[in-house]
Amino acid sequence: MPFSELQAQDRAVGALQAALRRGRLHHAYLLGGPEGVGKGTAARLLAQAANCEGPGARVDGLPEDACGECAPCRKIARGTHPDVFLLQEERVMAKAGRWEPKGGRTPSREIVVDQVRDLVDHRLSMRRFEGRRRVVVIDPADAMNVQAQNALLKTLEEPPEGTTLVLVSSSPDALLPTIKSRCLRVAFAPLPEPIILAHLVAAGQPPEAARLAAALSGGSLSRALGLDAEALSERRAALEGAASLTAADAGRWVAFAREHGDDREAAAGLGELLLIWWRDVLVAQAGGAGLALAELAPLTRRTAAAITPAEALRRRGLTERLLGALRQNAAAPLAIERMLIGWFHGR
Ligand SMILES: [Zn+2]
Repeated sequence: MPFSELQAQDRAVGALQAALRRGRLHHAYLLGGPEGVGKGTAARLLAQAANCEGPGARVDGLPEDACGECAPCRKIARGTHPDVFLLQEERVMAKAGRWEPKGGRTPSREIVVDQVRDLVDHRLSMRRFEGRRRVVVIDPADAMNVQAQNALLKTLEEPPEGTTLVLVSSSPDALLPTIKSRCLRVAFAPLPEPIILAHLVAAGQPPEAARLAAALSGGSLSRALGLDAEALSERRAALEGAASLTAADAGRWVAFAREHGDDREAAAGLGELLLIWWRDVLVAQAGGAGLALAELAPLTRRTAAAITPAEALRRRGLTERLLGALRQNAAAPLAIERMLIGWFHGR
C-alpha cells in the first residue's frame, strides 16, 4: 500500500513525502491525531520508503513512496527487517511472541523503561545491518510511562547516525513536554464522515447502521468499525429513552441516570449520540431535510415542534457539558442527572 492510499491526510503525507524527496528525514517525528486515521500505516510507509529498493529508488535522496514489492518493503511489512523496530506495550508484544517480559513480571499495558533501555543500549548501539535508514516506530508512544519517556530523551535528541524515531500517538498531549519538543509534529486529521461511511458500506454494513456509526466515529475508522450492530442498537435505545423523558417525571430521570451512568463509555456514547440528535432537532426546526438519524425522525419532529430553537440549542449545550464532565472523570450518573435537571429546570 503506497502513501496515496491513505485517505484525507494530504497535509501529513505531503510533509513526510517532501522530507523523503529531499533525502532529509528528521531524526524524530511525532505523528499525532485521532485513532484509526492512518498514523501507524504512515509510520510503516515512512520506514519502507526510506529503505525501498524498488523502481522509485534514487541515488540522491530517497524514494518518495514505498513500492511494497522489493525485499526491504516486504520485510518491513512482515516485521522482520533487522533495522526497523516496533516498540509496543509489553502485553501486545508478549501476545505476538516477539517480546518476552523479563523476570516473570506480568505484561503491562505500558511501554516500560526496560524496553526503552534495551532499544537504546543494545539495538541502537549496533551497526545497521542492511538498511539505508534505521527506523524505530513507537506505537502508541503515550503508552510509555514517565521513566520510559525519560530514558528515551537523550536518544530522541541525538539518535545514532542514520536513525529516525517515529512516535505515534492519538493523545500526543499526554507525552512529556520534553518529548514533544524534541520531535517534529505531523498532525493527522479526523477522517471526513463520507469516507468512513463508504468504508463501512464497502465492508458490508447496512446503510442505516453505517450512517449512525460514521456519525458517532469522531473521524476514526477503527472506532466506527468497533461499533457493531448490538452496540448501535443499545445506544439508539438509550437515546430514545433520554429523548422521551419529560419535565413531569423527575423520578424517571434519576432511574435513567443510574441505569446509563453505570458504564462510563456507554454514557459518553449516549452523550455523543444526543449531540447528533439535537443537531437533527435544530435541522428539523429550520425546516431542513436530511436528518442524520433518519429512523428517529418522528421523535425528532415531535421534539422540534414542542420547544423553541433557542431551547434546543440550550439543551444541546448542556449535553456538551455532560461530555466535558465525563472527560474530566465526573461521576457519570451524577453528570447525566445534572444534564437532565438542566434540560427541564434550568434557564
Ligand atoms: Zn520497495
